[in-house]
Amino acid sequence: MNQTDVRVRFAPSPTGPLHIGGVRTALFNYLFARKHGGKFILRIEDTDSTRFVPGAEEYINESLSWLGLKIDEGVREGGEYGPYKQSERRDIYRQYAQQLIDSGWAYYAFDTPEELDSLRSQYEADKKTFAYDVNNRSGLNNSLKLGAQETLKRIEAGEPYVIRFKMPENVDVSVKDIVRGQVTFNTSTLDDKVLFKSADQLPTYHLANVTDDHLMKITHVIRGEEWLPSLPLHVMLYRAFGWDKTMPEFAHLPLILKPSGKGKLSKRDGDKEGFPVFPLEYISPDGDVSAGYRESGYFPEAVNNLLVLLGWNPGTEQELFSIDELI
Ligand code: GLU
Repeated sequence: MNQTDVRVRFAPSPTGPLHIGGVRTALFNYLFARKHGGKFILRIEDTDSTRFVPGAEEYINESLSWLGLKIDEGVREGGEYGPYKQSERRDIYRQYAQQLIDSGWAYYAFDTPEELDSLRSQYEADKKTFAYDVNNRSGLNNSLKLGAQETLKRIEAGEPYVIRFKMPENVDVSVKDIVRGQVTFNTSTLDDKVLFKSADQLPTYHLANVTDDHLMKITHVIRGEEWLPSLPLHVMLYRAFGWDKTMPEFAHLPLILKPSGKGKLSKRDGDKEGFPVFPLEYISPDGDVSAGYRESGYFPEAVNNLLVLLGWNPGTEQELFSIDELI
């Protein structure tokens, strides 16, 4: 790979204000792209309609622009998002979900939320945990049990369904994470995750994320450690699609912790310690106002410096770095 082929993305979900942890992910991606003369892409992952917060997308855009993190791809002229807004790409994900069904890597499931809840309660009563997986899937309400004809009949009758990934049994997978080193897992511990829902014709995070990283030719996925548990499924999706030869490299960044070191830094910790955890002031849909670095009088350079110096020591006395020096 040429250095100039480096393509990284920042892929926030517009479910609220951009947290300082998200800003750090964006900054690391940006610096990495600039260092290699590559591209920094913004992709809005807005496929969870239940968690959508109006104004969050604009907030993300404004924050990146205040911090000086210029996007190379992902925004149309005039500030509108380009092809990189997932809710505008439903047909693409449906098509790739279909590909997995056709190749036997996925199946239709018709179980209602009530049926699944009742199964969970039954298992809990026996002190067990229910998983939609290789052990249970053949007895549940899905195309594997019903057969092709009955499945088609139900779909044509408009019965709601989801498409689930058919996680293979007992496959060992080992991936090298740039931060974590070798990460190894066995698929037997994984369940059959939902990839697509007919109700809103939207994919779940996993399908949309992997499909887009592939289609957008992302070379390095740099994201928060909270996504590490998703890595096994993502690797299996790359394999199922036959994209494993061009799979991106992964770097999962440690979380920014509370001052006590216990748990992820929250807005409440910031309020208590007297520092904002948001780049810009945020007014929630209920009218609650949260402080932002910009309105509190910080320069964007100070915020960028604070974030790079968390967990990194240049080994000199230098305390302030320009973006160019950081690159
Ligand atoms: N949409 C995810 C988020 O909100 C992106 C995770 C990833 O970078 O893969 O953080």
